[in-house]
Amino acid sequence: MPTTLDLAPLRAAIRDVPDFPKPGILFKDITPILADGALFKLSIDAFVESARPLGIEKVVGIDARGFLFGAAVAYELGVGFVPVRKKGKLPFTCQSAAYTLEYGEAVVEMHIDALRPGERVVLIDDLLATGGTAAAAVKLIGKMGAELVLAQFLIELEFLDGRKNLPGTAIKAFLTF
Ligand code: AMP
Repeated sequence: MPTTLDLAPLRAAIRDVPDFPKPGILFKDITPILADGALFKLSIDAFVESARPLGIEKVVGIDARGFLFGAAVAYELGVGFVPVRKKGKLPFTCQSAAYTLEYGEAVVEMHIDALRPGERVVLIDDLLATGGTAAAAVKLIGKMGAELVLAQFLIELEFLDGRKNLPGTAIKAFLTF
């Protein structure tokens, strides 16, 4: 379902930062959205509008900007929030999933009791780039036996074709570049 909201103000607020965190990367900085009450609310409303009809029982947010959006969405939906974190940050026993970076490998983790089998989950992050991070989060949700209903991203960098790393996952991205 297409959003009924006018998201042009969100697009206009995203700040492009060239060569961050390294040369050749054009970083999409969403902090101007977070800093503006009306824009932050609009961004959360967009996530919530598409997730609300889906009978979501848990929001899973990806470290770290996925927490900022995901937690607000969970609050608005009245459901729990589950963090997927970089290795070594979560205190309890974890399920883990590795993914490939440009150089080497990274691991993300989720607490083993974070999701129940069959639980209906929406996955949230700020941005879909190559899809490696989201694919690892999808793997974790699968290992828990939960049902990933939708993966939502505020921004999608279409030229990186991150969707190819998320076969079979329903994806909603609000702003494409
Ligand atoms: P990927 O695994 O390549 O899809 O990268 C996604 C993660 O890296 C997300 O959590 C984003 O926050 C971050 N990221 C990747 N590329 C960018 C970019 N150009 N601007 C801002 N964040 C990015």
